[in-house]
Amino acid sequence: MARKFLLCFHDFSVWNYQKMLPVLEQLKDLAGAPFSILVIPDTEKAPPEAVDGFREALSQLKDDGFDLALHGYKHRAEFSQGRSYAGLIAMNLTHGEAEFAGLSEYESSRILHAGIDAWNKLFGDSTTKPSAFIPPTWYSNKFLPSQVHAEKMIYEDRYAIVTAKRKRYASPVASFAGIPNFLVNPAFRFGEFIQKIPFGLPRIALHPVDFPQHEKAIHNLIRAALGCGRKLTRYKDL
Ligand SMILES: [Zn+2]
Repeated sequence: MARKFLLCFHDFSVWNYQKMLPVLEQLKDLAGAPFSILVIPDTEKAPPEAVDGFREALSQLKDDGFDLALHGYKHRAEFSQGRSYAGLIAMNLTHGEAEFAGLSEYESSRILHAGIDAWNKLFGDSTTKPSAFIPPTWYSNKFLPSQVHAEKMIYEDRYAIVTAKRKRYASPVASFAGIPNFLVNPAFRFGEFIQKIPFGLPRIALHPVDFPQHEKAIHNLIRAALGCGRKLTRYKDL
């Protein structure tokens, strides 16, 4: 089996889709194929024109072969949801972005389903299912993996990807957003390293804030992944 890697664009939302579409196109040209996009489905506070445009963008991306995955509900969360102490620490570390961190079983299920409902509303049909579920910032709780699998979706955490049939891939990830400046270069070196080691399914996780700031380094990293013989894959192909 040829060695593979995943290219995952995080946090695609109603608030940034216009700006990000050209970035996605450029990455697609460079990677030679459409890749995985992690969608924040909540559009509650967006103006109706923006929601319509976002819908169109998503259906275009789907038609172009992009792999669409579900990335939480709002991506931001309130503190008052009965989180564990570890969950509160994760929320603090991520400035409130760790939507699922340390939630109770009930709250975790409630927010997961709010995300699925928002997704279904956005796509307006039940034929477009998310290929995977990735909790924002990868912080989670002990109930979420089985709740996601019960919905027949792939679950991803920081170190691994587990399909609904419980096939597990060790999957190191290189990510560049939200880290201090002095760690950005080491993160890119780590990104190259995980492509070169002969095992695992490495991921390159990109965020809107990486562009245009790290664009050049990201392009080089994708070239390096392809250059060492890895082929691009998508959640839906796992
Ligand atoms: Zn995210």
